[in-house]
Amino acid sequence: MSSVQTVDVSPKVAKFLSEGPKKLFIGGEFIESASGETLDSVNPSTGEVLVSVYAADKEDVDRAVEAAEKAFLGDWKKITPSERGRLIWKLADLMEENLEELAQLESLDGGKLISHARAVDVPLAIDHFRYYAGWATKVMGQTIQSSTGQNMLTYTRREPIGVVGQIIPWNFPLLMAAWKLGAALATGNVVILKSAEQTPLSALYLGQLVQEAGFPPGVVNLITGYGKTAGEAIVQNPRIRKVAFTGSTAVGKRIMQQASGNLKRVSLELGGKSPNIIFPDADFSKAIPGALMGIFFNQGQVCTAGSRLFVHKKVYDNVMADLTSYASNMKQGPGMDETSEIGPLVSSQQFERVKSYLQKGHEEGAKSLTGGQPLDRSGFFIPPTVFSGVDDNMTIAREEIFGPVIAAMPFDDEEQVADVIRRANDTEYGLAAGVWTTDVRKAHRVAHELEAGTVWVNCYNVLDASIPFGGYKQSGYGREMGSEALDLYTQVKAVWVDLN
Ligand code: NAD
Ligand code: MN
Repeated sequence: MSSVQTVDVSPKVAKFLSEGPKKLFIGGEFIESASGETLDSVNPSTGEVLVSVYAADKEDVDRAVEAAEKAFLGDWKKITPSERGRLIWKLADLMEENLEELAQLESLDGGKLISHARAVDVPLAIDHFRYYAGWATKVMGQTIQSSTGQNMLTYTRREPIGVVGQIIPWNFPLLMAAWKLGAALATGNVVILKSAEQTPLSALYLGQLVQEAGFPPGVVNLITGYGKTAGEAIVQNPRIRKVAFTGSTAVGKRIMQQASGNLKRVSLELGGKSPNIIFPDADFSKAIPGALMGIFFNQGQVCTAGSRLFVHKKVYDNVMADLTSYASNMKQGPGMDETSEIGPLVSSQQFERVKSYLQKGHEEGAKSLTGGQPLDRSGFFIPPTVFSGVDDNMTIAREEIFGPVIAAMPFDDEEQVADVIRRANDTEYGLAAGVWTTDVRKAHRVAHELEAGTVWVNCYNVLDASIPFGGYKQSGYGREMGSEALDLYTQVKAVWVDLN
């Protein structure tokens, strides 16, 4: 029998979960939704309800807008950039003090491995806030010499946009909240952030820390609720001047259409079907674990997942054997078990969706070397799956599965890499790509040809607050992280002063 090491739930988390329904964080206070409606947050490792949460709709969004506008024109405006930076830094410190609690909530609510939540999600979220705390004092305009006369002073200012709406998915609830809040707050905006209905808990816990850090009421409003109600209310509200969205391409398109009615600024971080290319001269001691982590990390529920694996014909059989042997031995179990190597999918809906892709893969003639059938146990478990015999046109090679499923395909060009690049780029997505080779010239040549916002060479799924992130083609537009994100949350004003 294999060992199980289930983490003891922290007393703070136990208390947090015992006080339901959880309230929305609006105007600096925790309040019930206007309608009194609630939704249940489920633990995907068991399928059982953890706690219920008030579900926001239009009336709550209106209240949040009211509070946010008041803060934007009042207390938040009076705060200096340095003080803004210190508040954001303070929030990061409080998150660090609550690292274990945040990690446990991520694991319980989303099925994430506790070991990953502790080592990746929460530390990256903290680091993200610290990075943008530094930018608060570095938002700059220019003075420009115009050609309109000697005594004309012309300068630009980078001003905040105002009330910003942010809609995030369930795959990295806390980290996505950090990505959205960091740059927006550093540049002086006020925010209404809607977490995903599947994973509302870490954002609400963060609300307590926002309160404790001392942000003026209304600067950060954290709500949850369904896309059709709370999400659309954000998109349709004309007083929300910008919406930043991360999630599916289908919803991204709908948001653009609806935002056209009020011309709010839109930035989108959408899905992917990222190619990961292993050349025969790769360092396989890195490429094999890299390809595995590229697809199985977070159960494959990663927008950059390396779901299309192109492997050179010469090494294809060996690579398949290695992947299969590793994947078939991965220990799958609850998120809160420290010995689990892969957890459950986030919801029964996501489980059904991935299950139907497994069926389609088999129907269209691909062969699963390992996995391929959902596990017969409670919770939403799909085993790590490696499909071979995949054709470029099969559904599993074209559509985002968002599960632990590799579609592996051989390629066979020798010196010429044009064909595999053409195949890698033959998708409407363009979020990320991976390249494994020890030839430095080939590495850069291929990296430049790939149509993707991020290319990883001899690594995969590496992220840092300082490095811009976003999509080509239908994977979205706008860049979060790095200095690029400042552009998303500021607008430029030109000021002309005639000194004559
Ligand atoms: P989704 O796009 O429906 O949900 C993401 C967020 O958008 C949630 O907060 C949701 O409440 C909100 N939302 C939904 N409909 C909305 C609307 N009409 N207006 C405004 N907001 C709305 O994603 P999902 O259904 O949870 O997952 C479906 C698929 O999306 C997944 O299988 C995966 O392929 C993809 N996905 C991608 C990412 C990513 O990071 N790129 C994240 C989650 C899901
Ligand atoms: Mn949940």
